[in-house]
Amino acid sequence: MRSYEAFYRRSIDEPEAFWAEQARLIDWQQPPATILDRSRLPFTTWFGGGTTNLSHNAIDRHLPHRRDEPAVIAVSTETGTERTYTYGELHREVQQMASMLRSLGVGRGDRVLIYMPMIAPAVFAMLACARLGAIHSVVFGGFASASLASRIDDAQPAVIVSADAGSRGGKVLAYKPLLDEAIRLAAHKPAAVLLADRGLAPMALVEGRDHRMDRLAPAHADAEVPCEWMDAADVSYTLYTSGTTGRPKGVQRDVGGYAVALAASMRHIFQASPGETYFCTSDIGWVVGHCYIVYGPLIAGMATLVYEGLPTQGLDGQPDGAIWWRLVEKYKVNVMFSAPTAVRVLKKQDPALLRKHDVSSLRALFLAGEPLDEPTARWISEGLGVPIIDNYWQTESGWPILTVAHGVEQQPTRLGSPGVPMYGFKVKLVHESTGADLTTPGEKGVVVIESPTPPGFMQTVWRDDQRFLDTYWHSIPGVEVYSTFDWGVRDADGYFYILGRTDDVINVAGHRLGTREIEEAISAHPAVAEVAVVGVADALKGQVAVAFVVPRAGVGDEAAALKLEGEVMKTVADGLGALARPARVHSVAALPKTRSGKLLRRALQAVCERRDPGDLTTIDDPGSLQAIQRLIG
Ligand code: AMP
Repeated sequence: MRSYEAFYRRSIDEPEAFWAEQARLIDWQQPPATILDRSRLPFTTWFGGGTTNLSHNAIDRHLPHRRDEPAVIAVSTETGTERTYTYGELHREVQQMASMLRSLGVGRGDRVLIYMPMIAPAVFAMLACARLGAIHSVVFGGFASASLASRIDDAQPAVIVSADAGSRGGKVLAYKPLLDEAIRLAAHKPAAVLLADRGLAPMALVEGRDHRMDRLAPAHADAEVPCEWMDAADVSYTLYTSGTTGRPKGVQRDVGGYAVALAASMRHIFQASPGETYFCTSDIGWVVGHCYIVYGPLIAGMATLVYEGLPTQGLDGQPDGAIWWRLVEKYKVNVMFSAPTAVRVLKKQDPALLRKHDVSSLRALFLAGEPLDEPTARWISEGLGVPIIDNYWQTESGWPILTVAHGVEQQPTRLGSPGVPMYGFKVKLVHESTGADLTTPGEKGVVVIESPTPPGFMQTVWRDDQRFLDTYWHSIPGVEVYSTFDWGVRDADGYFYILGRTDDVINVAGHRLGTREIEEAISAHPAVAEVAVVGVADALKGQVAVAFVVPRAGVGDEAAALKLEGEVMKTVADGLGALARPARVHSVAALPKTRSGKLLRRALQAVCERRDPGDLTTIDDPGSLQAIQRLIG
């Protein structure tokens, strides 16, 4: 076996040679002429002159030898349905979807916004866009109208693909009214909306704009839609993510670099082989879903399990805390990818459920999206008897930054650490205000990445290069490095430990939310004069949002506070979506601020977590924090 150290060194010292080799893992229509263009760093262009297509690499190139092999296994415990599509059937479905989109005017470079539950047509829509050279922008189905509207305005889609409804724990969530409201709120109006009808909720169609898939589909059943050959640096998709400001950023990704990065990660990190089955429990609305539900497994010639439902509900709608292991047994899942929160949900169940099914096909369980605590890691590892592999990354990076590459060398894992820098990533720790390198083991600093960033990394912020530079590359004085906005430390052997965000981003059940976005939604409530939202540690979800509001009319009695709490929660759920809804909304007379008027969020957070609020020398009105301390108890 090779040494990971040598593999890593080569990726850093000779990136051109290293990535030229990895580029051979995918099909190119025209092989790249230049591997790495560094002329505009930190903007990086990979595989210049090469032309390829993600849909071709995910589907067409497998057809000669896998036409009748499973490609997409769609399981919904919400509707009690299971269906397997072979590569041949996937090819047909994606061409049909591409043909429908084309008939609605979608062409190369156009944006298509996808707002869908976890059903097979959502995957077809993504692959259909890739086929046409259109740029997809998937918005998580849990987001509500205001979030959706801001994304519609930024992406300016020609067409929106959606559905009548999603479902969670048997509760139907109608998407169409949310979508209609979002389009009403948005300044940009899409020319057409293509809708899957699952028969879950009635849909009122807007004449001339809305089209039902089932009505449109027959005319496109046999359509042949060849893959559009894209330049490696063309845009494959944008995916919105939260940051410090209330305005979400469109993380923009290329075509060629992304395809190569995924193909390489499937081999070196996930040790995946063609013909095997991959089960990622994320959602297509998140980066993990883009990479490891849709593109990664299919590029690797695997079957990918697309799952709609809770981890604790069976296909018959009855509680089943072993549903995932039942599916692992049934579909002989080899590689699984989930999030610590999901495991913490399972941890509340009888541990015997982990042994109820034969999971011997499973080689490893990968977990990402939030810090993996040791008790959770230990519990699942002992219960399942397979290695648990933590991996740390971001929407921006496109694939793991820190983990262990067992496909290169069986490196030991360390509890509490996602691992070591992956090939291509020059990861460092720097001092947050001087930018100085921190090299002493145990020293806490900001986790940063030096340019050139590897293939698959974000190209820029959609239509805003300056924001890409200002936000990510110029946030630390004195140095031009990409900031992850995470604190970290490194041990003497180079293993990193992630210690939480440096900015106002919180992580609720593995979902990234900006506290500013939630604050903006709450400010819309007429009774709220001022608001602060902080992330507070939670045993199940990692963090939850807790809001402090200053009512315009002053703090009333308990009944008034409870009423306002309910209303504020509803305002957030209606505007942003249920996942952003604060766990608590406290009415307070004043918020703790510095003399210059800056909110002391960290102090608020500390009080909520019953920690010492730290240095309060800059606080303007110590009484405000003391009152909150008394309120929290
Ligand atoms: P997202 O872009 O939504 O994937 O969120 C990325 C953020 O989630 C990172 O910046 C981290 O704060 C956090 N995160 C993701 N994976 C891990 C992990 N394995 N350990 C600790 N934090 C993680």
